[in-house]
Amino acid sequence: MKASLDARIARAEELSKTYVSAGSLLGFYRELALFQKTISPVSDVRALARYLPALVELVRRIGPAPLSAFNATVTPEDMLQAYWEGQPPNDPVARFYSQVLLQPYAEHLASRADIHSDLANATCPFCSARPVVAVLRGEGDGGKRSLLCSLCATEWLYRRVICPGCGEENKDKLPIYLAADFEHVRVDACDTCQTYIKSVDLTKDGHAVPLVDELATVALNIWAEEHGYSKLEPNLLGM
Ligand SMILES: [Zn+2]
Ligand SMILES: [Zn+2]
Repeated sequence: MKASLDARIARAEELSKTYVSAGSLLGFYRELALFQKTISPVSDVRALARYLPALVELVRRIGPAPLSAFNATVTPEDMLQAYWEGQPPNDPVARFYSQVLLQPYAEHLASRADIHSDLANATCPFCSARPVVAVLRGEGDGGKRSLLCSLCATEWLYRRVICPGCGEENKDKLPIYLAADFEHVRVDACDTCQTYIKSVDLTKDGHAVPLVDELATVALNIWAEEHGYSKLEPNLLGM
């Protein structure tokens, strides 16, 4: 788990040089990932609450202003437990804090679990959260798509032509949008449920770290949202 955080931190540093407009966002993400490295495995999700004050302090120091306004309506312990039991907070700020704390916990548990999934799983076969990004591997007909969990980072194989939001399978309703600026990241939209998920194509950039490349290409989110699509699942930074 720490190794994967190291890979994300290194990728955020690398991309901040090439995707200059996403530089401050990637810098903030890097600090969050470094913070996540300090979270030790705990046996009870409620114990993660002890890391909250340090996280709030970090965000007040270097985070965007809207995230500094965190006023919990329930105890942090209850907030974390409810999220882990499948009820993320509605407030995006509370959701952000919960997710930063829960991700390493969830990832640690998932990495030790024996996870069975099939191609029909539109949500995580381990923790039931929605996918935050898709990953493409292998070209042409042999190409495979997998989905990456927004909470525990489990990756599972998923059918290539189907909307993970509503199950639409008609290719004509599933437009793919490419942008010249980002050769390896595309927008997979659905005209039936009007959602989108971005896909990171590892055949075009084998060094990509999907969770980080997804964050770095926020320009695509803005484009998709301007065209009437909403994101299937926001990333850690709420975008
Ligand atoms: Zn998961
Ligand atoms: Zn759909």
